[in-house]
Amino acid sequence: MTLDISAIRKEFPILKTSIGKYPLIYFDNGATAQKPQAVIDCINQYYQAENANIHRGVHHLSQLATEKYEAARGVIKSYINAAHDYEVIFTKGTTDGINLVAQSFGKLLQPGDEILISQMEHHSNIVPWQMIAEERGLQLRYIPINERGELDLTTIDELINNNTKIVAITHISNALGTINPIEEIIEKSHKVGAKVLIDAAQSLQHTTVDVQKIDCDFLVFSGHKIFGPTGVGILYGKEDVLNQMPPYQGGGDMIKTVTLEKTTYNNLPHKFEAGTPNIVGGIGLGKAIEWLSQFDLEAIAQYEQELLDYATEKLLKIEGLKIFGTSAKKCATISFLIDNTHPYDVGTLLNQQGIAVRTGHHCTQPIMDFYKIPGTIRASFSFYNTKEEIDLFIGALNKAVMMLK
Ligand SMILES: *Cc1c(COP(=O)(O)O)cnc(C)c1O
Repeated sequence: MTLDISAIRKEFPILKTSIGKYPLIYFDNGATAQKPQAVIDCINQYYQAENANIHRGVHHLSQLATEKYEAARGVIKSYINAAHDYEVIFTKGTTDGINLVAQSFGKLLQPGDEILISQMEHHSNIVPWQMIAEERGLQLRYIPINERGELDLTTIDELINNNTKIVAITHISNALGTINPIEEIIEKSHKVGAKVLIDAAQSLQHTTVDVQKIDCDFLVFSGHKIFGPTGVGILYGKEDVLNQMPPYQGGGDMIKTVTLEKTTYNNLPHKFEAGTPNIVGGIGLGKAIEWLSQFDLEAIAQYEQELLDYATEKLLKIEGLKIFGTSAKKCATISFLIDNTHPYDVGTLLNQQGIAVRTGHHCTQPIMDFYKIPGTIRASFSFYNTKEEIDLFIGALNKAVMMLK
């Protein structure tokens, strides 16, 4: 199946807008993706005609909202191929999902137990582990990276050892684009009985992930990076480990019975879904995944690879430009710097020409420390982007460099 990119672009109202006199060129997909009309309509429809609280009403609207919310859970379950609906837990996003696992699974750990993450993690897959490690006397260790921005696995057999209880690793780096060999890491971790959490915030919009096939214990992602709303995300967890874990937050919906003396907890997934959730967010995320599923993900990955190759080749022709993250396995994200220019200035001049890129440390300061740089300029593509946009971007970049040098 080939993708009709111009038809796909028409489904995104924001892509028709302008920044000043320049048409918007949106290359900040790593931070958040734009929303297709189908998702926008779904959100409007919910607030205009369907709004009610879920799970506890006998009335029509409450039942309708509950059905839609649970149907969205089913769509997500199928998309990642979870074994059961109740292994799919709604969260606020990737950050929230990692905090849930760190705080809840972390309570099962004992002083001296080890947590393994990597030097290329997003801050949201570092700080929650630092917090629980400090609280419980756990050892936090890091897989280093190499000059190409890949995980350096030379010491992996020592890093994953009998003390390792959980390995939390990003599938795809938001700052460098590197695609990590997660299946190899999962297999090694399981050999010593360690659980594995995959940060899929940058993956499900570019490639399919089958949680049963890769056999991860947890997988987290955010709705807003996969064409859905902000403030909603997913924690997938295997049933047996989720059942061993204590609740993360207390409140309504997560209980079976409450007396003043004692509370018994609800079954999965409700045990981890305290309070009124982001109902419209969950329904909108289901719609976004349904929308994405109509396309051939292989075709999307192939098209994005073309954009990546095209942009990389053009960028490298600019004098003094250096790309950070040069692994052979990358998604369509390019981080770079240009000699004698500051990333912020370049980003500002691109913005003046209608082009949205991100500048800074991308919530990955340890990567910037590794390269001894303050930050980068990052262009991250989605499959609604085009080679024509990349040409305009290169033109605008050349103009910016001329002004700054
Ligand atoms: C965006 C991102 C996060 C954090 O996601 P939130 O939606 O801000 O919670 C975590 N990890 C990676 C790799 C990301 O790209």
